[in-house]
Amino acid sequence: MDIALSKEDRAFAEKLRGFFAEEVPADIRARLARGEHPTKDEVVTCQRILNAHGLAVPHWPVEWGGQNWTPLQRHLWSEEIALAHVPMPISFNTAMVGPVIANFGTDAQKQRFLPPTANADIWWCQGFSEPNAGSDLAALKTSAVRDGAHYVVNGQKIWTTLAQYADWIFCLVRTDPTVKKQQGISFLLVDLSAPGVTVRPIRLIDGSHEVNEVFFDNVRVPADQLVGEENRGWDYAKFLLGNERTGVAGVGLIKTRIARIKRLAGQAAAHGRPLVDDPLFRARLTRLEVETTALEMSVLRVLAREGRVGPGKPDPVSSVLKIKGSELQQEATELLVHVLGPAALAYRETADMPDRFAPLPEGALDALPTYFNWRKASIYSGSNEIQRGIIAKAILKF
Ligand SMILES: Cc1cc2nc3c(=O)[nH]c(=O)nc-3n(C[C@H](O)[C@H](O)[C@H](O)COP(=O)(O)OP(=O)(O)OC[C@H]3O[C@@H](n4cnc5c(N)ncnc54)[C@H](O)[C@@H]3O)c2cc1C
Repeated sequence: MDIALSKEDRAFAEKLRGFFAEEVPADIRARLARGEHPTKDEVVTCQRILNAHGLAVPHWPVEWGGQNWTPLQRHLWSEEIALAHVPMPISFNTAMVGPVIANFGTDAQKQRFLPPTANADIWWCQGFSEPNAGSDLAALKTSAVRDGAHYVVNGQKIWTTLAQYADWIFCLVRTDPTVKKQQGISFLLVDLSAPGVTVRPIRLIDGSHEVNEVFFDNVRVPADQLVGEENRGWDYAKFLLGNERTGVAGVGLIKTRIARIKRLAGQAAAHGRPLVDDPLFRARLTRLEVETTALEMSVLRVLAREGRVGPGKPDPVSSVLKIKGSELQQEATELLVHVLGPAALAYRETADMPDRFAPLPEGALDALPTYFNWRKASIYSGSNEIQRGIIAKAILKF
């Protein structure tokens, strides 16, 4: 659907499409097209290919590898990556810590961290949430106490995504416990190989290892790894979260899932007609597709407003995109399981029982884990309940 795209923007998107098809290894894209997840090596390989062509961090300042693209072009870039089944560059690097360092870091920090962050030579993880500080993030307790040229860090982070792959963690830490809670927080970069850091896996219902606990036991962090000013970390965290306005909708991802659902539903079932002939199924699929189109138009509307809200400032409408986007992403995973029927049960333990399910349809082994896994979409990036609170206050003015 190109409803709002000019000829130039369509050409821009087509150029990206051509690049992804030619330059990104076809086997990686084929695996992702089947609904499988990229490995760490695949993510790093693809990010390096994109970075070599100026396509890994287009939203960064130009001097650090960014592009002078319009907000719409940046959106098209992320859409085309999803549609081409290219693994997304590591969001902790490119969408989170990179822009914070580029905007608030010292020159030495920029030179030290930005090139390897863009090129995935460093894998970052995000150390914000704690056991009693999630939605109420400012309640965080992990402390950093200045001791000469170091901070001594003690405490615990939780739900740290892919910390098992990471080399470094960017943390919110409490540097002043005596002031209003938002005012005593700092933004600190910590080497995960430093003595006193422990990463412990959390096993999820889908069987995967995606999130972790990270413990800090008297970890000595050089003071030159503080980003910006001490006790201004809350401002930098807001800037970081404010950068993510429209990507949360995940329109490209939903579209790829709809395409897979259609492919599978069009195949003749073992006993009877293809599912796509069932009017109830068609109605559900159509509703998903129509709502995705509406979501895409809302994304384009928010992008058009970006100039008015100002860069780095959260647009409350992005809360609407977060809620609707996560709901549709989840609905697509549900529909995928529905289309696969009993074959969706053929995952992990049953995968070695091919006679019961053979031949397994495309992506069957990943559909149910993905369904479970995607329950997270309404929790992370600010839970949907929190987003409703933002909409009530900032848009409906309750
Ligand atoms: C898969 C996954 C990956 C994550 N990755 C990371 C990561 O890499 N780094 C990181 O720092 N964090 C990460 N998080 C943490 C995430 O940001 C928090 O889970 C989220 O902010 C919610 O916090 P909580 O889990 O402490 O729940 P709580 O804040 O305890 O909330 C519990 C429930 O109460 C509701 N609730 C809380 N406050 C309100 C309110 N004021 N109004 C209405 N309802 C409310 C919530 O919506 C939720 O349903 C991840 C989470 C998940 C699920």
